Amino acid sequence: MKVPLLDLNAQYQSISKEIKAAIDEVVTSQRFIMGPQVGELEKRFADYINSKYAVGVASGTDALLLSLMALGVGHGDEVITTPYTFFATAGSISRVGAKPVFVDIDPNTYNIDPALIEAKISSNTKAIIPVHLYGQCASMDSILGIASKHNLAVIEDACQSVGATYNGRPAGTMGDFGCFSFFPSKNLGCFGDGGMLTTNDEQYAEKTSKLRVHGCSQKYFHDMIGANSRLDNLQAAILIVKLKYLEDWTNARRSHAKKYNEAFSSISEIITPVVTDNTNHVYNQYMIRSNKRDAIMDSLKKNDVGCALYYPLPLHLQECYKFLGYKEGDLPESEAAAKETLSIPVYPELTEEQQNKVIDVAINALKQ
Ligand SMILES: *Cc1c(COP(=O)(O)O)cnc(C)c1O
Repeated sequence: MKVPLLDLNAQYQSISKEIKAAIDEVVTSQRFIMGPQVGELEKRFADYINSKYAVGVASGTDALLLSLMALGVGHGDEVITTPYTFFATAGSISRVGAKPVFVDIDPNTYNIDPALIEAKISSNTKAIIPVHLYGQCASMDSILGIASKHNLAVIEDACQSVGATYNGRPAGTMGDFGCFSFFPSKNLGCFGDGGMLTTNDEQYAEKTSKLRVHGCSQKYFHDMIGANSRLDNLQAAILIVKLKYLEDWTNARRSHAKKYNEAFSSISEIITPVVTDNTNHVYNQYMIRSNKRDAIMDSLKKNDVGCALYYPLPLHLQECYKFLGYKEGDLPESEAAAKETLSIPVYPELTEEQQNKVIDVAINALKQ
């Protein structure tokens, strides 16, 4: 029996009729760019996460990029973020001409450690980008407190945490901007690239709505220099269907996580995710941590169980960031997490039989 890390086909089969009808509607209308489905999805998405505004964009990366552009972050500015994330978080900072300043993570949650932020704030710092990694919110109370004390903007990278909450507040509604990705492997994924930017500020919503269409409010009249970063209307139609099921899918992920937590609770060599009291985890990934990570990984692979490293090399040690001058040992918790963590299947459609296999293989790997 094969157990993939993610089974998008199983999910598609369960809703294929509805999806095909939604696609057909767009195709029949031939309205591919900024058709009515984009606006409808924006409204539904804003309602779902309880944000005032939502702006559909081409990807999660572009949501980050347009947020930084709307804030006017650019050359000479610094933005504080975590090195233990997908590349796009830091890449977007660099693409507007600013400098990413990396702050190490809390080893329990893998999210940026707020206690280490203030030491990295300089007169050039303009913003903080906390990442709600794997589906669990960063310590937003502390982060927002530091930001307001130093007059910094906060952009939440919520690309892995649609539907997650922190003290009852949804991811993507606490900072100046929330950035979401609809990359197929995300909890709410479309059939290609797509993203959403959220904000409670009317002016930011207006500005980013313009920035995604070359900075124009009226066709061929440009108030600012923007980008071509619209959410495709076909993707919006697909996402309208999928959003209805998201809560059920998230609950299935949580119940799989609970089963793993219980199964591994007596295994001292496997550390399960630490969920802080005030957060509601949505398990975009379920990560185990072990100093025998590689043995577990090899065994899972040999037994046809999907698993993956998120992320094998922290961003401060990437080739393209050599010029920033970091060296190994500078951000030890991120480096240790990169060596010891492993993502195992937690997708909603995972069957009981499949999950039992994952558990057995992982535990047996430690006996060898
Ligand atoms: C997926 C992801 C992104 C980028 O989203 P894309 O839609 O692939 O551009 C950014 N940050 C994090 C943390 C992500 O997981």
